[in-house]
Amino acid sequence: MSKLFYQGRGRKPVLDQARGVYMWDKNGRRYLDGSSGAMVCNIGHSNDHVLAAMQRQMEKSTFGYRLHFETEASENMAEKLAEKMPEGLDRVFFVSGGSEAVESAMKLARQYALAVGQGERWKIISRTPSYHGCTLGALATTGYTTLTAPFEPMMRVMPKVPAPRAYLDGLDPDAAATGRHYADMLARRIEEEGPENVLAFIVEPIGGASTGALVSPAGYLERVREICDQYGILLILDEVMTGAGRTGAFLGVDHWGVRPDIVVMSKGIGSGYAPLGAMVADRRLVEPVLDAGGFAHGFTYAGNPLACAAGLAVLEEIDRQDLCTNAAAMGEKLLARLNGLMQRHEIIGDVRGKGLLTAFEFMSDRSTKAPLPKQLNAHQRFVDIAYERGLIVYSRRTRDGVEGDHILVCPPLILNEGHIDEIIEGLDESLVQFA
Ligand code: PLP
Repeated sequence: MSKLFYQGRGRKPVLDQARGVYMWDKNGRRYLDGSSGAMVCNIGHSNDHVLAAMQRQMEKSTFGYRLHFETEASENMAEKLAEKMPEGLDRVFFVSGGSEAVESAMKLARQYALAVGQGERWKIISRTPSYHGCTLGALATTGYTTLTAPFEPMMRVMPKVPAPRAYLDGLDPDAAATGRHYADMLARRIEEEGPENVLAFIVEPIGGASTGALVSPAGYLERVREICDQYGILLILDEVMTGAGRTGAFLGVDHWGVRPDIVVMSKGIGSGYAPLGAMVADRRLVEPVLDAGGFAHGFTYAGNPLACAAGLAVLEEIDRQDLCTNAAAMGEKLLARLNGLMQRHEIIGDVRGKGLLTAFEFMSDRSTKAPLPKQLNAHQRFVDIAYERGLIVYSRRTRDGVEGDHILVCPPLILNEGHIDEIIEGLDESLVQFA
């Protein structure tokens, strides 16, 4: 019996090889990676340029502690990442994953408030549902009761506002009034919490696993920015899943041109080649913190040269292959094909997404938006059926631990139309079997 455990005891096939969008287990079975792992492998598996860059770095050095050395790999990666950020965001802090990046953003925001004499500010408002990570700080901002409830006594749960699920509330996501309607809930919450106590708002520009590719309604993020400015609150964009080209632009927020104060990233920037995350902050926030004595935070593996060399090569591949453009083009085709599936399969109640962050949601009745009964555990059953057919997709409950199931279809950004045919065929057959 394996000594390993994760969420459960379930034993999966042993991975042998992976290349491009495909993976093979030890028994020689092939899988199409229709979720890029957990929306991680944006540039696909076993990319030669990245492997060569990692090999070169390994031959030079694999570790240099940040208090002893800078490395060319981390300097170059920081430079390249900052180039891709909105104007003013050019201070880069490396970590090893998304939760660490979120923790870092929370702490930088807090230290900034202290440095500028606003020490009463500490509350970070977030949304329900949302996912910002599993460490206790990031979890305190996560709006997903199944994950948070056991740990509530151990953390200070942060205030929440509803995510803008226009499709459930019967509102038009393309109407400016809809974005304003949801954003104004943030303004009301700030007033309730006491504006002087509120430090930041953290938001995924396009919801990830928690909401199932929920695209921000028209005008929402723009209005959120106005509200943050009005109350002197920092805007933290959680781009852990949406970043690195996933949605057809380098950052999800680029679709709306809204300027964040801090961006947190992981997943796609390391693309599965190495554990890598980053917090990129406006220099206006970082400089006062450094002047006031420094950032009281840091992880041993921060700026690991091997991870940074991998990350730099990943970003180079995103540029060289123009993967943001491909994600946008293939995403449109994939979304259209998913809508075609919805016409054939009554059980699909909604299809949504942007670029190659797409999802469909099961419903027992489209007109009332009623979910499937929770006890069916539909999302997990569906994922298992597709897996048996050699198609990997990702799923979660949509409605905050209550009911509702969505399936995320988020293949690597190197996708072509032949892969889309294969994905749709696998989903179609799985849906027939599932019904
Ligand atoms: N933020 C978002 C939006 C995520 O999707 C995730 C992971 O799924 C995280 C944060 C946490 O990242 P990690 O699992 O690398 O700690």
